[in-house]
Amino acid sequence: MRLEPPVFRPPSEAFSLILQLTIGCRHNACTFCGMYKGKKFRIKTWEEIKKDIDDCSRQMAGIRRVFLADGDALSAPTPLILKTVFYLYKQFSDLERVSMYAGPKDILDKSLSELEEIKFSGVSLLYLGVESGNDEILRAVHKGVNAREMVEAGRKALQAGFEVSVTIINGLGGTDHWRRHAEDTGKVLSAIDPTYLGALTLMVVPNTPLYRKVQQGEFKIPGSTGILQELKCMLENLNLSHCIFRTNHASNYLPLRGVLNKDKEDLIAILEQAITRPDAIPLRPEYSRGL
Ligand code: SF4
Repeated sequence: MRLEPPVFRPPSEAFSLILQLTIGCRHNACTFCGMYKGKKFRIKTWEEIKKDIDDCSRQMAGIRRVFLADGDALSAPTPLILKTVFYLYKQFSDLERVSMYAGPKDILDKSLSELEEIKFSGVSLLYLGVESGNDEILRAVHKGVNAREMVEAGRKALQAGFEVSVTIINGLGGTDHWRRHAEDTGKVLSAIDPTYLGALTLMVVPNTPLYRKVQQGEFKIPGSTGILQELKCMLENLNLSHCIFRTNHASNYLPLRGVLNKDKEDLIAILEQAITRPDAIPLRPEYSRGL
């Protein structure tokens, strides 16, 4: 099988077989994202996908997890997704989980019964980039949906039976809007009530519109203390029933883990200590942060 680079996957899919159902990102407009800027979006044909699966099944044994790429594989037509997933389970007898990135518009564009069919076929987990819960910030970064639509998308995916892993980006409101970003993101996440929540910290990627704003002085990135304050404020605004929370992504200053809301107060206390007594809790140095 030949992957068309660059290929991205969530950290938790490090040991998964990556299969490209689509190339690039249908939306490809977020001002902070440079992942697929050099790729023209297209949906692979069934013949291409089948050949990839056949190649892999000949060369690899014991595949338990498959991640369907690229940026929003859920934008592929439902019959193609179903055909792919059925064939994956047929060819890999040990397969336990298929997952994929899902843009909010992809979820909203499919009917609930289509999503249920995809879930039933064996896709158990969708990764949804929420990024922010604030309408102005979502508009400024060209996410393509507002906060209400983001909640609708997240809830619809859960209603269809998927586990939903969401990511948010600390720092996306800059120094000017950090509080609104934190509060509204907390509210939107509470309304979705996802299965998993991962917080990333903004890293400005060269050759993106956001990078140019930073260069022109129109957007100021919060420093490490500001980011921790923002994360603490977001946690204070969260009300989740049982969500696995992680900040172990390499972009973050402080790796945290817990179950929300159960561990909320403990996590807030750690953040408070890191903010008020910076010597007590070492932060990841700037040079070792990465995407
Ligand atoms: S939808 Fe995701 S992959 Fe596509 S441009 Fe936005 S952040 Fe990047």
